[in-house]
Amino acid sequence: MQSRPASSSPAVGPLRRVKVLLPLPLDGAYDYRAAAGLPVEAGDFVLVPLGRREEIGVVWSAGGAGPGAIAEGRLKDIAHRFDLPPLPAVARRFVDWVASYTLNPPGAVLRMAMSVSAVFGEGPRPAIAYRLAAGVAPDGPAPEGVKLTPQRRRVLEIARAGARPLSEIAREAGVGVGVARTLADAGLLESVVIPDATAAMPDGSRAGPDLSEDQRLAAGELTAKIEKGGYAATLLDGVTGSGKTEVYFEAIAAVLKRGRQALVMLPEIALTASWLERFTARFGAAPTEWHSELSAKQRRANWLAVAKGEARVVVGARSALFLPYSKLGLIVVDEEHDTAFKQEDGVIYHARDMAVVRAHLGGIPIVLSSATPSLESTVNADTGRYQRLHLPLRHGGAVLPVIEAVDIRQHRPPHQRWLTPVLRDALTETLAQGEQAMLFLNRRGYAPLTLCRACGHRLKCPTCSAWLVEHRLIRQLQCHHCGYTIKSPEACPACGAVGEMAACGPGVERLSEEVAELYPKARVSVMASDTITGPAAAAEFVRAVTEREIDILIGTQIVAKGHHFPLLTLVGVVDGDLGLDGGDLRASERSFQLLYQVAGRAGRADRPGRVLVQTANPEHPVMRALVAGDRDGFLAAEAEGRKRRHMPPFGRLVALIVSAGDKEHADATARALARLAPRGDGVEVLGPSEAPLSLLRGRHRRRLLMKTPRGTDVQGMLRDWLAQVPITGDARVQVDIDPYSFM
Ligand code: ADP
Ligand code: ZN
Repeated sequence: MQSRPASSSPAVGPLRRVKVLLPLPLDGAYDYRAAAGLPVEAGDFVLVPLGRREEIGVVWSAGGAGPGAIAEGRLKDIAHRFDLPPLPAVARRFVDWVASYTLNPPGAVLRMAMSVSAVFGEGPRPAIAYRLAAGVAPDGPAPEGVKLTPQRRRVLEIARAGARPLSEIAREAGVGVGVARTLADAGLLESVVIPDATAAMPDGSRAGPDLSEDQRLAAGELTAKIEKGGYAATLLDGVTGSGKTEVYFEAIAAVLKRGRQALVMLPEIALTASWLERFTARFGAAPTEWHSELSAKQRRANWLAVAKGEARVVVGARSALFLPYSKLGLIVVDEEHDTAFKQEDGVIYHARDMAVVRAHLGGIPIVLSSATPSLESTVNADTGRYQRLHLPLRHGGAVLPVIEAVDIRQHRPPHQRWLTPVLRDALTETLAQGEQAMLFLNRRGYAPLTLCRACGHRLKCPTCSAWLVEHRLIRQLQCHHCGYTIKSPEACPACGAVGEMAACGPGVERLSEEVAELYPKARVSVMASDTITGPAAAAEFVRAVTEREIDILIGTQIVAKGHHFPLLTLVGVVDGDLGLDGGDLRASERSFQLLYQVAGRAGRADRPGRVLVQTANPEHPVMRALVAGDRDGFLAAEAEGRKRRHMPPFGRLVALIVSAGDKEHADATARALARLAPRGDGVEVLGPSEAPLSLLRGRHRRRLLMKTPRGTDVQGMLRDWLAQVPITGDARVQVDIDPYSFM
């Protein structure tokens, strides 16, 4: 492990009394004493006593003032300083900023930056290997004082073949490690340190593809910003397949050449497989990954590599934003419109928005990339806060697919079937031409609802207000909110009737049954988040589609993103209305983005694509804009509507979710909050009302929604408000600044 450079924080210098922030939901950093023999500086990771435990924290600042300051005599000593690079000042400021913005204790945010307890354990022991010492012959005479038994000679023989750990040599020789150790102690085997298998680093000087004129201009703008340095936000706005990825790869190359780190955030890590391949082909080495699928060992290694600046390009999910980068020089948020960037539990934050903050604090460029930018980013580009770089054409002259709405009221599918004759004809034609088709249905499992034909009883989750979703392949019913699972019952749990349980509505599994019936020879495969569980499974899936092992691909929103399947020429959206009736602020926007992204999967390369969207609302603005290919018109109309209603991004929203195990308690707490709600110019508090998901994991939920003008200090207002309302018992109030989910 590398020791700390002497000049890590020259401005702060050694401190005697310091504040240490712990990764716990405490009200602030606590004072500790740094003993003379253990000098610490701001950012150092340290072990401190807390009550009867010891906790690992970060030296946050000079101690003395503010909350947590205690009398000299009661100060406890810092017990240990870890030999790790200190958390840089900008990372500490970022933690404070996010905490203050989201109204969370800083320690709760710090926990996201320290999510690798293994880092703080023992350092990795250097691997030591042994080989035959010079001048020793396994079959030669025994040296002075050592008896060479046949066993020992076998060890020497094995060791002659090359340096290996002692245990391995012993195993190969069929002896105990003790035998090998004796020979090492006697000097017949000599030790060599195996150099750390340092991974190859992405190389920014490798040449990328020849860029088109538009691509070159966009890449030039980005690299200029990197060379100039400083904060700059860019919206990279280009149709699917226009080469946005190639363009921001150029920016990454520029960052690498300057010896700094780049972070690329992707919304769904299961989908990064093809991205990783492209990156590796372009830069000659894989990037450093950061997501929940990593093993503890990988997490530890990657965290350290980021902290030491050895990890040059990090690709990850939301949490990658909180890694302790030592020299971050660029952030890219790919598919920036994706709502998966919003973390909905624990510290509730939007990783795209926080990434912009991080870039600002760090004085570095940020690129937001999308074919369907969020309304927020669109407005920021329109008002000049972000620079917009536009890529209007698909690479290589591929044309955008033709999108048609299929009115399911006119073209009715047969009873208990979901494909219209129009879509079936298109499928038949596509298969006949040896091309691939994709059917999109954003519903996992077999059926979203199961009911009893005899008594009408519907199968519900016992602890959530939600139906149980049937997963027929594994013969289970699941709650998609809490994970509650039961075996699919034979008899109705309410009336006992046997064989009367009926599935209502389609999920992807049921759709695949219909497809298999219609096309018994076609190779059909389902892709959903429960069938594609990680990067490896996703990679395998992408390979199978690319190599034509699959004819019809059926998927949930997991297929909407980022894949390039050259033979995929037909996309059928089975239920285009599914997202429209969500009724919340962004239902239309999200629906449009999702359907447009799905449509973008059709007709890459040289084959034109066709997209059929089944809908009962062909007149809906979303459907009209899709069919007309009028993204900008749609966004303009959305923006107009939001402006009129003072909704984000023209006004601000904060949601408060009150929950408690007891229904009355939840109601009383919510009402108490409402009574003390802030008032003022343009400030409105709606509710309390029952949350749509009024019961979740056995807790009753109520919602309040605060609506304010754009410039309002909502955090200040909320702090004052929440401080007045006693929250008792097991009641909880979750604050969701800029809410995306209204469930
Ligand atoms: P986007 O990110 O906008 O969807 P991509 O960067 O993924 O677009 O590009 C779409 C496809 O076209 C990819 O397979 C990519 O490798 C290819 N491509 C884009 N630009 C070029 C280029 N200048 N030269 C060669 N291939 C390119
Ligand atoms: Zn549940």
